[in-house]
Amino acid sequence: MKENAWSKLDKDEVFRFSDGYRIFLNKCKTEREVVDYIVSEAEKHGFLPIEKGGRKIYEVNRGKSVIVAVKGRKDLREGLRIIASHADSPRLDLKPNPLYEDEELALLKTHYYGGIKKYHWVSIPLAIHGVVVKENGEKLNLVIGEDPEDPVFTVCDLLPHLAKKIQGDKKLFDGIAGEELNILFGSMKEKKKESKKGEQEIKNFILKFLEENYGIKEEDLVSAEIEIVPSFKARDVGIDKSFVGAYGQDDRVCVFTSLKAILEVEDPEYTCVFIATDREEIGSEGPTGMKSRAFENFVIKMMESPDIKDLVSVFENTKVISADVSAGINPTFKDAQEKHNAAKLGYGVVIERYTGAGGKYSTNETTAEFTSEIRRILNKNNISWQAAELGKVDEGGGGTIAKFLANYNMDVIDCGTPLLGMHSPFEIASKADIYETYRAYKAFYEG
Ligand code: MN
Ligand code: MN
Repeated sequence: MKENAWSKLDKDEVFRFSDGYRIFLNKCKTEREVVDYIVSEAEKHGFLPIEKGGRKIYEVNRGKSVIVAVKGRKDLREGLRIIASHADSPRLDLKPNPLYEDEELALLKTHYYGGIKKYHWVSIPLAIHGVVVKENGEKLNLVIGEDPEDPVFTVCDLLPHLAKKIQGDKKLFDGIAGEELNILFGSMKEKKKESKKGEQEIKNFILKFLEENYGIKEEDLVSAEIEIVPSFKARDVGIDKSFVGAYGQDDRVCVFTSLKAILEVEDPEYTCVFIATDREEIGSEGPTGMKSRAFENFVIKMMESPDIKDLVSVFENTKVISADVSAGINPTFKDAQEKHNAAKLGYGVVIERYTGAGGKYSTNETTAEFTSEIRRILNKNNISWQAAELGKVDEGGGGTIAKFLANYNMDVIDCGTPLLGMHSPFEIASKADIYETYRAYKAFYEG
């Protein structure tokens, strides 16, 4: 019989932990910001870049994903203990030619990234985070909309009075279309200037403003990664402050908790590895995603005399937690889940033996044997945990990076924090579950 984690946890300790988590979330709204945070924390704890060597090492890939490792007492060929999460979250990206003028307003075209409900992204304050790389290679980091003195941005919705035909007859999911996610960016023009027919005075004003204030030219936006994210801060939620509400908890809750865990690892038996990957929300493609050879290359670099057979031994003996969030049961929308196999907020970390959709398509399903090992570790450490599926059979589905790691012939299980409102701009997690997730990851590294 499972019991609610609050009935056994020290509330002060749990609250202290989530205070640190909120600070992290406010600093880290893009994968690059997450990677910078991880590197600075790792360096504070004595980790060095892999090329410098040592027991505690890390390697950053293109500023967008990172692997951190603590070498263990056992030979690498006896396998690794990996916890792998993802640093990217659903958002709006700017298109390559984003800036345009319409009806004497300046706007930015976006292309959404990951699985969003587009109607969530209208009429909320948004911030701009990202990098612009100029032709000479100079890199500008932009964060606009976080400081209380900063402006924010928004996608303007249509007033209900006039929305009957344009929106009223549409299905909820189609209420806002991808090409309607246009960011309101400005509206001023030069003083007393004769306008020539067809001249885009507002756009020109904004371009001049960008050049003067940020040193950015229109063409620079082609070589940029600019992400539009909610500008609001992580907050305590509920009269008892038992939840954290914030953007990007999928999957930064698992990043934060597993980072905390690896930073506390000293002299482990097996080599412990922490991965914060990128591109999970769009299928783990590209050099910084989990399908890339970057992870394998990291292992080869760690080995003293890499031999292909030794590499095979490393992989075959490795055990992995795919650290990703799950869906908690929402009392208002219970029909999406099957109550005997749905995660509940407050009941601790969730283990999912498989994800996927339909008849278990497109998923790693971990073995009964490895699940038993995980159960033993969690129970031995008195950690609140629950076994669940994402939702009802045939209701939909989802995936994680588990299957890409499993392709190396490693044991992999999904294990993470349950959320309400996953993939919305304001996701909810229970502080008790966040804390138990951290304790579970720590116990896994410690064996
Ligand atoms: Mn995720
Ligand atoms: Mn996700």
